[in-house]
Amino acid sequence: MAKYTGPVCRLCRREGIKLFLKGSRCMTEKCAVERRAFPPGQHGQARPRASEYSTQLREKQKLKRMYGVLERQFRGVFAKAERQEGITGENLLRMLERRLDNVVYRLGFAASRNEARQLINHGHFRVNDRKVDKPSFLVREGDVIAVKLRSRTIVPITAALEGVDGRGVPGWLDLDKANYTGSVRGLPAKDEIQVPVNEQLVVDLYSR
Ligand code: SF4
Repeated sequence: MAKYTGPVCRLCRREGIKLFLKGSRCMTEKCAVERRAFPPGQHGQARPRASEYSTQLREKQKLKRMYGVLERQFRGVFAKAERQEGITGENLLRMLERRLDNVVYRLGFAASRNEARQLINHGHFRVNDRKVDKPSFLVREGDVIAVKLRSRTIVPITAALEGVDGRGVPGWLDLDKANYTGSVRGLPAKDEIQVPVNEQLVVDLYSR
């Protein structure tokens, strides 16, 4: 599957917020948003007037970049969210949040979603005792996500687990750190998905 391979700190600077794409570095003073709090590029420090369209576009880009989903796939997720019952924006957030790469990151088995994606691709995780190597796999209520037995000593996972207490695990997930497993208590409610994005603006953008 296609993925973005360019410089990721540039994406945070473009959006003007921390998207936490680089794991532990994001918490240090080396973070590019802390050091250069203006958009990248020649005109980065100019202040263009924000139009309605550009505001909506920025919200969509933030969401896409935060979850590491490219445009075509993001449109597909949006189309599914639209077909579901309920509020489209909330459905969209819930579907992104249910992605296995996000769940592995939220449980603290990886320091970032990018790292989670790589670990999943390399076959380090099982869902309900079956190997799953698709980062876009959507978890369901009651699913149990486990680090494969032989992968429990690899450094990215052990290092990420050490930092999980500081980060916290959202209420819709349960972490059993000692057994390298996590489970899905229920699907996330809107207030459990704490992302700094106005999802309604994304819906408005796609409804233009
Ligand atoms: Fe974004 Fe992390 Fe880079 Fe900071 S260090 S700019 S939060 S990816």
